[in-house]
Amino acid sequence: MAARPMPYLDDLNPAQREAVERLDGPVLMLAGAGTGKTKALTTRIAHLLSTGRARPNEILAVTFTNKAAREMKERVGRLLGQPAEGMPWLGTFHSICVKLLRRHAELAGLKSNFTILDTDDQLRLLKQLVQAANIDDKRWPARMLAGIIDDWKNRALTPDKVPAADAGAYNNKGVDLYAQYQTRLRELNAVDFGDLLLHMVTIFRTHPDVLEQYQRWFRYILVDEYQDTNIAQYLWLRLLAGGHKNICCVGDDDQSIYGWRGAEVGNILRFEKDFPGAHVVRLEQNYRSTPHILAAASNVIRGNESRLGKELWTDKPEGEKVRLIGHWDAEEEARWICEEIDAMRSGTRGMRPFELNEIAIMVRATHQMKVLEDRFLKIGMPYRVIGGVPFYRRLEIRDAIAYFRVVVSPDNDLAFERIVNTPKRSLGEKAQQTIQRTARDHGVSLLQGARIAAEQGLIKGKGGAALRELVDGLARWNAMTRGPRIEIDDDSVIDNGAEPARYGDPEVSHIELAQIILDESGYTESYLKPLSDEELKLDPSPPRRPRDHEAAGRLENLKELVNHLGEFENLQGFLEHVSLVMDNEQDNDEPKVSIMTLHAAKGLEFPAVFLPGWEDGLFPSQRSMDETGLKGLEEERRLAYVGITRAEEVCTISFASNRLIFSGDFKGWQSMLPSRFIDELPEDHVEVLTPPGLYGGGHSAPGIETHAAQANVYNSPGWKRMQARQGQYGMSQPRESRNTVIDATAVASFALGERVFHQKFGYGEVIAIEGDKVEVAFEKAGTKKVVARFLSAKDD
Ligand code: ATP
Ligand code: MG
Repeated sequence: MAARPMPYLDDLNPAQREAVERLDGPVLMLAGAGTGKTKALTTRIAHLLSTGRARPNEILAVTFTNKAAREMKERVGRLLGQPAEGMPWLGTFHSICVKLLRRHAELAGLKSNFTILDTDDQLRLLKQLVQAANIDDKRWPARMLAGIIDDWKNRALTPDKVPAADAGAYNNKGVDLYAQYQTRLRELNAVDFGDLLLHMVTIFRTHPDVLEQYQRWFRYILVDEYQDTNIAQYLWLRLLAGGHKNICCVGDDDQSIYGWRGAEVGNILRFEKDFPGAHVVRLEQNYRSTPHILAAASNVIRGNESRLGKELWTDKPEGEKVRLIGHWDAEEEARWICEEIDAMRSGTRGMRPFELNEIAIMVRATHQMKVLEDRFLKIGMPYRVIGGVPFYRRLEIRDAIAYFRVVVSPDNDLAFERIVNTPKRSLGEKAQQTIQRTARDHGVSLLQGARIAAEQGLIKGKGGAALRELVDGLARWNAMTRGPRIEIDDDSVIDNGAEPARYGDPEVSHIELAQIILDESGYTESYLKPLSDEELKLDPSPPRRPRDHEAAGRLENLKELVNHLGEFENLQGFLEHVSLVMDNEQDNDEPKVSIMTLHAAKGLEFPAVFLPGWEDGLFPSQRSMDETGLKGLEEERRLAYVGITRAEEVCTISFASNRLIFSGDFKGWQSMLPSRFIDELPEDHVEVLTPPGLYGGGHSAPGIETHAAQANVYNSPGWKRMQARQGQYGMSQPRESRNTVIDATAVASFALGERVFHQKFGYGEVIAIEGDKVEVAFEKAGTKKVVARFLSAKDD
C-alpha cells in the first residue's frame, strides 16, 4: 500500500483506530453516547477511500436520517481534504432501497417509475379496502390495520408468510386485507415505505443472481445507529454482507428508541452470533458532554433493567450542573426558555455567550412545538424546526391561502394571479393579459381590472362568464368578512347580490366562510370526480368522491386547514400567522435555534440543550405508563438518555404543572406531575433554578385563574403533591399561592380509597397512609407499602 499521509488517524483514540483500521471481516462498535462511534465510522470510510481499498461506489453506508447522510459525506470530504465525490450508496435504508428497487422494479411486479405513498395515502387506500369489505371501521379502524401491516412489513413478512399466530389479527381479516392491499398497490404501480425494504428482501431471496451481483458490488458495508434497525433492515444487511462479511455496525443499546416502529435492539446483541469471529470494539470515553451532564444521563439510564450496562467517563472540565426548573404552564415554560436563551446569548448567566445555532430545544411530542413556535414568532427570535412537515408549503394550502388573501385584501394582486385560473376557468394567457392591461389602464388592482374587463365584455365566451362569476363571488365573500368592502367608485359599495342573511352576517364564522369560499369558488369541486349524465339522472345531488388518490389527500389537507382556523379569531389573524410562519421558513444563514423531537435528535449534538415537558403522562408518555410491563417505560427512559446526552455544555430540563392536552376528542387543561425521570436525576449534579419574580411586579400571567378553575387544580391531589415538591424543584407559582408556606415533608397527600398507579406494581387503591409511606392494595401485585413519591394519582 502506498504510504499516503493519513492525518485523520491522529484524531482517534486507540480503540477507535482499531475500528477504523480493521477493514476486513465483521466489526461491531458497541458504545455509549458521544464516544465517537459516528466519528470512527466516518473515518473508516475516509480510510477505505484513501487506502484505495474501495471506490466511492463500492461502499454501502447506512445512516438514520438524510441529514446524517449529508453530514457524513461532508465529514469524509474534510478528512480526505477534498470533496467526497460520488458515494451514491451513502444514505438511509429507504433512500438506498428506492434506488435499488427502481432498477429491479419488474421483479416486484412494478414499473420503475412507481410512486411512493406517504402514510396518509396508505391510510386512505386501506380505508377503501376496509369499507369495501363491509367492516365497521368504527370498531376496527383502518389505522389499526395500517399498524398491523407495517408491523408485518417491518418483520419482512409477505402476506403468505404471516405466521398462524397472527391469523386473528384485525378480526381475522388482517391477512386477507394485507394481500388485497398489496395487490392494489401493484395495480396502482405504488409502494409504501415498508415495501421498499420488503420488496428488496424478497427480490434478494428469490433471485440469488441479483443478490450475488450486489454482494460483489458493495465490498464494504457500514451501518450507524444499528440498535434501531428492524428485522427487514437486518435481513437485508445480512443478505448483502453474506459473501465477504465486510460489515461494520455501530450502535448503543441504551439509545434504542424506535421499538414502537419495529426496531429490534436484539439485532445488535445478536451480531456476534450472526457473524462469528466478529471483532467487538468498546468505547468508554465520552468526548461530547461535561461530567455533570454525563452523570445525570448515566443515573437515569441505570433505572433500566434490560441493558448491557456501560460506564462512560470524560476528561472535560466540570462545567454547569444540569439545570432543573418548574413552571406554571407550557406557555410560561416557553416564555422562560426564550428569555433564558436571550440571557445565554448575551452571556449574562455566568457562562460564555452562546450563538443561537448552538442551542436546541428537544420535545417529546410534536404538539409541544406549537407554543414554543408561537413564542419565537412573537418575539422575533429565529428558529427552525428539524424534521417538521412544511404544511403551509403544500400546493392546495397555498391555493386556499391565496383565496383567503384576495377575500380579505382585494388589492393583493399576487394572490389574485394565483387564483384567477385555479381551478381552470378557461382564462388562458391571453385573457389574463387583458385583465392586466385593463387594470393598468385604469390604475386599479387586478381584481378591479378583472371586474371591468368582465363588465365591458373584453373577455369572450366561457372565460368571460367564469370571470364574472369569480369577481361576484369574491365581492360576496368579502362582504361576509368584516374587513374592507370591495369598492368600484369612491363611494359606492358593490351590491353584490348576496343573500341578505349572509351580507356581513355575524352568524357566518370565518371557519364557515373559509369553507364557503373553497366550495363556491369551485376549488373543492376541482378535486372531485366529475358526474356523468347517467348519475345525475338517477340522483340530482349524489354523494361525491375524490377524483383520485392524490385529490383525496389534498381534500383532507384542506379540511385540516379549515379546522386549524378555529385557533384564530378571524381570517386576517390567520393570514398574519401564515406570513410569519412562511417568512420564518425562508432559509438563510442566520443563526437559529433548532427545535425538534427527541426522536429526530438522535446522533446530533449541541452546546446547549433545553428539554421541556418532563411530566408524567407526557414524558414518559401516558401510553408507556399504562402498559403492563416495563418495555414502554424503558424505551421512554432511553429517550431521556438520548436527550440529555445531546448536550455538550448546558442541559436544562423543565416541566409545567398544567398543560393543555389534546387526546382524541378531548381537549382541556390537565394538572401534571413532574416526570418520574426527574426523580432519577442525581441530586449532586443538578441545580434547581427558581424563576426570578415570574409573577411579581408588572409581569402578569393572564388566564391563570381560568386555567386553575378549569382544571380544578387546587383541589386535586396532584396539585397538593406538586406544592409539596416545589421546595425541591423551584417551581414557579401562581400569584395567589406565592406566599404560602410549603411543608416539604407533606409528601403523602393521597386520600384513603384513592386510585393510584405505581411504575412497578401497576394500579391499586390506597388503604393506609403513614408519613411519606402509603399502603396500597394493588390489583395485580397484592398489598404493599410504598414510598409516596413513586405513586401517581389516577383520577386527577
Ligand atoms: P451518539 O451515540 O450520540 O451518536 P457517537 O458515539 O456517534 O454519539 P460522535 O458523534 O461520533 O459520537 O462523537 C461525539 C463528539 O466527540 C463529536 O463532537 C466528535 O467530534 C468528538 N470526538 C469523537 N472522537 C473523538 C476523539 N478521539 N477525540 C476528540 N474528539 C472526539
Ligand atoms: Mg453517532
